[in-house]
Amino acid sequence: MDLNKIARLEKAIAQKYGQIAIANPRSFWTQQKEEEYLEELKDIYQNDIKSKEYNEKINKDGFLVAKKLLNRERDRTCPACFTYSFNPKDDFYMNKYDCCSKCYIKFVEGREERWSNLTERVEFLAAYYDQGEK
Ligand SMILES: [Zn+2]
Repeated sequence: MDLNKIARLEKAIAQKYGQIAIANPRSFWTQQKEEEYLEELKDIYQNDIKSKEYNEKINKDGFLVAKKLLNRERDRTCPACFTYSFNPKDDFYMNKYDCCSKCYIKFVEGREERWSNLTERVEFLAAYYDQGEK
């Protein structure tokens, strides 16, 4: 346990049982208090995890975005055309081909084998965007 946690725990106990408990826990400890203490410990620990998850945010383009949200957004961004899609129709293609329905029609349809080879896919996309920029 780190010092912060101990300090918070001591504060929680103090609020409940008074300073004496901190000064000498054993002097008035009972089975019931022990159980309450363990419950409290669990609560504090769980709250700690919750707030950690909540606060775990990533600085993305200058905005703080909750990590969970970001992952969800990333899942909805087509890796082939980098378009963000809310369309549930795209989920099917995203799950199966790692791209949106538009990219499926454009790049994958009839060439599923090339697409399924990640090296060829990357080379193909690189060439595609290379040509597009020139
Ligand atoms: Zn796409």
